[in-house]
Amino acid sequence: MASAELQRLWKLCRIDTGLVEIRKRAAALDPGRQVMAELEELKKQDQEVGGRARKLSSELTDLELAQKGIDDKLKKIDKELYGGKVVNPREVENLEKEIAILKRHRGANDEKILELWETLPPAKEAAAKIDALIQEKQKQLVERKKAAMALKATLEAEFARLTQLRPEATKGIPPTLMARYDVIRQRNDGIGMTEVTKKQTCGNCGTVLPERTVQGLRDEKVISCEACHTILYLSEGVV
Ligand SMILES: [Zn+2]
Repeated sequence: MASAELQRLWKLCRIDTGLVEIRKRAAALDPGRQVMAELEELKKQDQEVGGRARKLSSELTDLELAQKGIDDKLKKIDKELYGGKVVNPREVENLEKEIAILKRHRGANDEKILELWETLPPAKEAAAKIDALIQEKQKQLVERKKAAMALKATLEAEFARLTQLRPEATKGIPPTLMARYDVIRQRNDGIGMTEVTKKQTCGNCGTVLPERTVQGLRDEKVISCEACHTILYLSEGVV
């Protein structure tokens, strides 16, 4: 059984341990770093795959426009030839040459268009797949951020609650004991006191405690673990 002072210190220690735990959890809060990295990777892929689909698509549009231009020109020449305006044989010959050139162009364009009709759909499909993945990741990121914000709010509220309890919990603890506790917890990652386990080991470092230490604790003495210097607390019913 521990003295009333040690019991008070133990109560304070549980508040402090809670505060340490909250700080650790707040530091480890992840607003989706992994998801963000994956999203960046997908965006890079989209630049490549999506860029290719966009390039092919604009090539097709350009070719279709060119075909229309050629058709218009051919119609115009046709009109000139058969409208009775052009009678000079040399002029007729020139126009027929022009027709042949335009038709060759049109044929070449048609080949390219056919090729694009083959390559464009799978390119678009690949780009659409990456787009869908990007959207999915963006959704995940929003969710992750929301969850992190909610957890942050919970931790902050709990931190505020424990901080408020602290001044009251320090009352009745002798200044010398308090000073000793403060020094130890500053050295010990915020942990100044620990419970003796059922196996009579230090709850902080696991060192097996000598019988005289346990006896001293039974006698309500303030004793630290020889290995980690944490103040030991013997709760009722442990030994
Ligand atoms: Zn220890």
